[in-house]
Amino acid sequence: MTYTLLPTPTRLPTDLPPHAVIHADQLHKTFTLHHQGGAQIPVLAGTTLTVQAGECVALQGPSGSGKSTFMRSLYANYRIDQGAIWVKHQGDWVNLPQLPAHQLLAVRQQTIGYVSQFLRVIPRVPALEVAAEPLLDLGVEPESARDKICQLFTQLNLPERLWHLSPTTFSGGEKQRVNIARAFAVNYPVMLLDEPTSALDAANREVVMALIAARKAQGCAMVGIFHDDEVRERVCDRTLHF
Ligand code: ADP
Ligand code: MG
Repeated sequence: MTYTLLPTPTRLPTDLPPHAVIHADQLHKTFTLHHQGGAQIPVLAGTTLTVQAGECVALQGPSGSGKSTFMRSLYANYRIDQGAIWVKHQGDWVNLPQLPAHQLLAVRQQTIGYVSQFLRVIPRVPALEVAAEPLLDLGVEPESARDKICQLFTQLNLPERLWHLSPTTFSGGEKQRVNIARAFAVNYPVMLLDEPTSALDAANREVVMALIAARKAQGCAMVGIFHDDEVRERVCDRTLHF
């Protein structure tokens, strides 16, 4: 018996809405656990999503249903088995799984921001530097990068005594705010937010909702996973169910 796989769509559909900036086309992803007898975990089977500038789409579903896998795939952190991830980068549509490494890096520096659920901390690197890194990578002057981060840290109520310390010893909520400042410092046209408010108190959740609303108003396309129903209802325009 022969199995016929679905053809991988590699052409940009011609019927995308006019302000689309990201289009995930029939993503398939199965994890293979090589150290556990090659067990197969099918996670994505044809997931499709188009997001336009200024829109926020919520990914919603039970734990383990594939929300984070989908989001990591959109950032090309996970390799998909089939499908296409079209992103409008500097005016041109590119398909992430087909990009050479240096172009993928450029897309991540300039076009797609990603707030991961957990901040990757490097011992001895102060919070200010961790958060300023994406701006510096873009060639922003160190002084203005620093000013921008100080402004965001202040907005996010991160105590000033922490700014020059490594986030290694920070609480979950403090790390999360460093991560948010890091991503919101750059004006990305696309942002992916994986539970950005899960460790925050009500006041800081409000700050983050305001940051998201402001970015949407500037035309940023957002995809978010929000465990908090109130946050999801307030910032998201529609929902993709898992
Ligand atoms: P959600 O974010 O909706 O809670 P995930 O996308 O994290 O779900 O996980 C979906 C499924 O994929 C789960 O069954 C999880 O165990 C599995 N999974 C996620 N990441 C990996 C990985 N790196 N290797 C193997 N299995 C994984
Ligand atoms: Mg998750």
